[in-house]
Amino acid sequence: MTEIFDVAVIGGGAAGLSGAVVLGRSRRSVVVIDAGSPRNAPAEGVHGFLSRDGIGPRELVEIGRTEVERYGGVVVPGTAVAARRTDGPFEVRLDDGRSIEARRLLVTTGLADELPDVPGVAERWGRDVVHCPYCHGWEVRDQPVAVLAINTDLAVHQAMMFRQLTPDVTFLQHTAAAPSEEQAAQLNAWGIEVIAGIVESVEVAEDRISGARLGDGSVVACSAVVVVPRMVANSGVLAGLGLSPAPHPMGFGESIAADPTGLTEAPGVWVAGNAADLTAQVVSSASGGAAAGAAINADLIAEDTRLALKVLSRDYWDERYGSGKRGTGDKPNPQVAAAAADLPAGTALDVGSGTGTDSIWLASRGWKVTGVDLSDVALERAARRAAEAGVDVTWHQADLADWEPGAAEFDLVSAQYIHLPRPVREALHRRLAASVRPGGTLLIVGHHPADLEQPVRYPRLPHLMFTGEEIASVLDPAEWDVTVSAPERSVEHDGHKLTLTDAVMRAVRRPT
Ligand SMILES: Cc1cc2nc3c(=O)[nH]c(=O)nc-3n(C[C@H](O)[C@H](O)[C@H](O)COP(=O)(O)OP(=O)(O)OC[C@H]3O[C@@H](n4cnc5c(N)ncnc54)[C@H](O)[C@@H]3O)c2cc1C
Repeated sequence: MTEIFDVAVIGGGAAGLSGAVVLGRSRRSVVVIDAGSPRNAPAEGVHGFLSRDGIGPRELVEIGRTEVERYGGVVVPGTAVAARRTDGPFEVRLDDGRSIEARRLLVTTGLADELPDVPGVAERWGRDVVHCPYCHGWEVRDQPVAVLAINTDLAVHQAMMFRQLTPDVTFLQHTAAAPSEEQAAQLNAWGIEVIAGIVESVEVAEDRISGARLGDGSVVACSAVVVVPRMVANSGVLAGLGLSPAPHPMGFGESIAADPTGLTEAPGVWVAGNAADLTAQVVSSASGGAAAGAAINADLIAEDTRLALKVLSRDYWDERYGSGKRGTGDKPNPQVAAAAADLPAGTALDVGSGTGTDSIWLASRGWKVTGVDLSDVALERAARRAAEAGVDVTWHQADLADWEPGAAEFDLVSAQYIHLPRPVREALHRRLAASVRPGGTLLIVGHHPADLEQPVRYPRLPHLMFTGEEIASVLDPAEWDVTVSAPERSVEHDGHKLTLTDAVMRAVRRPT
């Protein structure tokens, strides 16, 4: 995919989809990459999610995907296998070879439940082998339940949790250490019997658990088995970003450390849901995703604000022109060449003249040109290039945000790709219009908002882009004959072949 998304969400369960909805509603471009296996898929229904109680896990995901798409989000089925930070955006690679670029990552890959290796456990998982009193405790209320222990502390805790739901709880010690004296007393106080011995298998009759068979051949009758799986965040995709899961303080497993908004130690990378919080349920995973989505939006706003300030500063342009990469060509902007071809040479104002390519080209065709730019560095280079070309151009350093050209002074006023915030831009365009002589031409060209759909690397600041119609709206139709267009041009950009669109407004001031 060629688009650079604001955010790539890896994992489209409750957490990821919820984050994507928040981001989509914030007009962020967002892609959700999802392998399609929510952790609770084996369960019949989602419980404890206010207003959604009992909904099928896959139905919940389907609804979530529709909501993401409603706000312009894109859901890509597939598995992300690696992520890395490039000089610019993050790059996420999928198992089918595709790659996706995004400015921020929200990783909501959930976790893997490592189940005890006892025949019948994996087969019945999510049905009558259960782990969570809040998810499916109500469904086994008043039934005989056996807790299959691996970690004594967690199993004792779990036995007492399920004792709240049913009076018939048995503690099967299995591979765990024997309960401490204190734990044994607690279990005894609740009437929970402790049985030592390895559980060989979970017995099933007529598609329902009937008991747990021990090594000595005896069977403990029960209709549900409770396990506490070791829970490990699905984090393989984070390895390339230097993130790995850390042990949970209570021994539940391993999760990715993050601050309360989900921000990890890797700048620009957030986690939410079970990947960050092993005990999060569906509603809290959705909540974590929403919080992360809001935090990412705020972070992007902060970055865009820094960028918006930067592109207006003289230092930024001095640095860009100083690097020598910009403004080396000698071909004029095509719209300038086209306009000048139709006009006799006269006086021209090149607004934002940079290193002077358009100015020098016009001057070499007999125009008397004034070039104006914010950057001293650009103007010094322009002056050198004009001298080399043997032409005279008047160079002028000024901030276009408040610079006032002479009234009705020029036969051609050209502003190519000058991007300023709208009120400043409109005021500049009014001043430029006033500087055109009756009969003269005002030519304004810029990056069209359609380019935001393309993976262009120049600052992605939608509020600085404009259409020809928007530019034309500042002119008095009684005074101007206006033509607007949106021509496309093909460019090679960072290895991608792109079609970019220009916003062009050419207006001729009617003679008085
Ligand atoms: C059997 C069972 C029943 C449960 N019942 C309930 C219940 O009734 N109520 C409740 O609140 N909670 C329940 N839970 C807990 C619930 O499953 C989790 O809270 C919830 O799924 C966490 O949401 P999540 O978005 O973090 O992860 P998930 O829902 O697991 O979603 C993660 C998504 O990421 C995808 N993914 C993973 N790796 C990649 C990758 N590399 N690239 C692309 N996609 C990837 C997965 O395929 C999956 O679609 C249950 C859990 C289990 C195991």
